[in-house]
Order: sequence, then C-alpha cells, then structure tokens
Amino acid sequence: MEKYPSFGQETSSRNSEVIHAGIYYPLDSLKLKTCLEGNRLLYEFCQAHNILFKRTGKLIIAINKEEEKDLEQLFKRGRENGVKDLEQLPIAKLHTVEPHIKATAALFSPSTGIFDTHSYMKQLAASFKKDGGQIAYNTELTKITKINNGYELSVIDNGKESFTFDSRIVINCGGLHADKVAVTAGLALEEYRLKYCKGDYFRLAPAKASLIKHLVYPVPKPSSGGLGIHLTPDLSGSVRLGPDDEYVKEIDYNINAAKAAAFCESVNGFFPKVTLEDITPDTSGIRPKLQGPGEGFRDFIIRNEEDRGLPGLINLIGIESPGLTASLSIARLVAGLVKPIL
Ligand SMILES: Cc1cc2nc3c(=O)[nH]c(=O)nc-3n(C[C@H](O)[C@H](O)[C@H](O)COP(=O)(O)OP(=O)(O)OC[C@H]3O[C@@H](n4cnc5c(N)ncnc54)[C@H](O)[C@@H]3O)c2cc1C
Repeated sequence: MEKYPSFGQETSSRNSEVIHAGIYYPLDSLKLKTCLEGNRLLYEFCQAHNILFKRTGKLIIAINKEEEKDLEQLFKRGRENGVKDLEQLPIAKLHTVEPHIKATAALFSPSTGIFDTHSYMKQLAASFKKDGGQIAYNTELTKITKINNGYELSVIDNGKESFTFDSRIVINCGGLHADKVAVTAGLALEEYRLKYCKGDYFRLAPAKASLIKHLVYPVPKPSSGGLGIHLTPDLSGSVRLGPDDEYVKEIDYNINAAKAAAFCESVNGFFPKVTLEDITPDTSGIRPKLQGPGEGFRDFIIRNEEDRGLPGLINLIGIESPGLTASLSIARLVAGLVKPIL
C-alpha cells in the first residue's frame, strides 16, 4: 500500500543517492550489518538490471590537526567495521586526484558510489509485480486492528472511500510516518517517536562542478544529525552541496535560500573555489530520526512485535541513512522474520 499515486514520493527520492561503505556505524549495529551487506547487494542488483551507478569513490578529509585526530579514529572505526578497502591517502596523491581540494589528511573509500534511485525503485516495483505482488497506490492505511489470526487494516482509497481488509502479516515501512502507523496498532511507544531532521541541498554551477570528481566529505561533527555538508556528484556530472541538518517540527520541503552563505562557508574550508554566486537552492529531504538533537546513536528498529502481543506485525522505524544502501539487506532481514510465520 502506498498513499501517493506512485512510489518514492518521500525520502527515497530526497537524498544523496550514495551507496555507502559502512565506515561510520558502531560495531554490532543493524545499520552497519545491513549497510555492509546492502552495499554488495546493491552493486550486484544495479549491474544485473542495468541501473546506472558509478563507483566514484569517496574522500573524507581533515583540514586541521584537530580533525586529523578524528579522521584517524574514523579510519580505525571503518577498518574494524569491515570496510577492508578504506585507505589513508597521502596528501600528494589527494592533490593529484582532486587538485582543487584543500586538506591536511584524507581517507579514500573506493567502494562508495552513487546510483540512480528512481530506476532502482522502478525495477523493485517491476520485480515485485512479476513475482505476483500487487501495489495499491492512492491507498492510505489509517488503522491496524488485531483480530484472530492476523489484522484488520482500515484504508482510505483515493482520499475518499474507506474500506477494510484482513492480513495475517503487516510490514510497516512507512518512513517518516512509521511511528504513527505503529500508534494505530496500539504501539504508542516513546522509543518509536520519530524526530524530523531536515537536510537542504544547493547545486553547484557547472564550471565549478567540473573541478570535482569524487564524493568529498568533511569529518563529521559528533553533535551533527548528518555527515556534514559534502560535495555529491550525480550521474550527470552535476554536483550538489549538502545536506545540512536542522531539526524541524513539520514536513516542509521548502529550502531556505538564506542558508547559502553558511553552505558556502562550510565548503570553503576544503573547497575554496566556491563563491556565493556558484550555488543555488536545489532540493531537500527529511530524515526520520529516532534520536533528537545532540542525542547519541540510535539504531534501526526492525522487529516482529510478537512479544508485545502483536505477532506478525513487523515494524521498521527510524530508517534514515544508510537506509537506501541497506535496503536489499533490510528486505532479507524482514523476509527472515516473515518466513517462520508463513
Ligand atoms: C537528506 C537525506 C539524505 C540521504 N542520503 C542517503 C544516501 O546517500 N544513501 C543512503 O543509503 N541513504 C540516504 N538517506 C536515507 C534514505 O533515503 C532512507 O533511509 C530511505 O529512502 C528510506 O526508505 P523507506 O522506504 O523506509 O521510506 P520512504 O521512502 O519514505 O517510503 C515510505 C513510504 O511509505 C508511505 N506511507 C507512509 N505512511 C503511509 C500510510 N499510512 N499509508 C500508505 N502509505 C504510507 C509514504 O508515502 C512513503 O512513500 C538519506 C536521507 C535523507 C533525508
């Protein structure tokens, strides 16, 4: 069920389209496990289905002594995490591969890349239908009621008619609304409550975009809700700056053009060629976060709610980054939860 007339109208179309390697996440976290497996599965899937992708590689750069220490830690974390190809790049080499990037130390992740998320979702929908699945668009789930041997689902069709149907298994992957969907099943849990963390993007003028070949990320700040404003080339060779991170109360995708100066300043630390005239507001996305501002790491929640008296209700909550990279691995995990119930 999808409440919009088509797939991917929310977060899955409003992101950086990066295939992450798994550098940042804590050991034993679901984010790490699904990112590592998802990275491999996603490249294979793109290859098998002719979906455009590019192993651009990613640079993470430090611009002073303080950041160098954090970069060293990040290198250790990445290697411990199993990102075997992560390397410390000599500065001379950095200057050869990205002559316009200013840094004092750098990491290089060859297995980070970018891909065409729209074609990916289109292919997933096509594969699902080919295997006998049906997608009900314009269909909004409004309530989940426990009944004998499953659930009664109340839905609104095309914003008008309401009806119900029964299902033994319900998989709630409602993105920004997954917590509210869980509430309709009676799970009003504080630990499931999502906080919205918005990320705006600005687009770089083509003349400056042509100076960058790789994904270029700063060292993330511990208090940040994202990975720091980075340079993300897309498959057409265009480059975006962002996303930043700002907790918001409402879902509103308007971009605050007044942020241009802050974006410029943030990127100027490692890419001095960018001026205010080079950037224009582009898109934005909203992260469905479990942690509030300044709070520590929270993992994906992916669980069968059997122990809460709701067997066969599988909740996916807080599927923020690296959710796209991890998607095929998450699907396997969910399939594993569903199989014993069938
Ligand atoms: C700024 C930003 C940058 C990111 N960059 C990256 C990146 O580079 N790499 C990466 O791996 N990840 C990235 N992510 C994370 C990634 O985009 C998400 O983890 C992923 O897209 C989440 O997919 P989803 O299917 O869980 O949610 P969604 O794509 O939001 O899908 C949920 C769907 O459920 C539908 N829905 C909700 N409630 C109902 C209801 N009651 N009835 C019917 N339908 C309903 C919605 O309409 C929606 O279509 C980024 C996220 C953001 C915000």
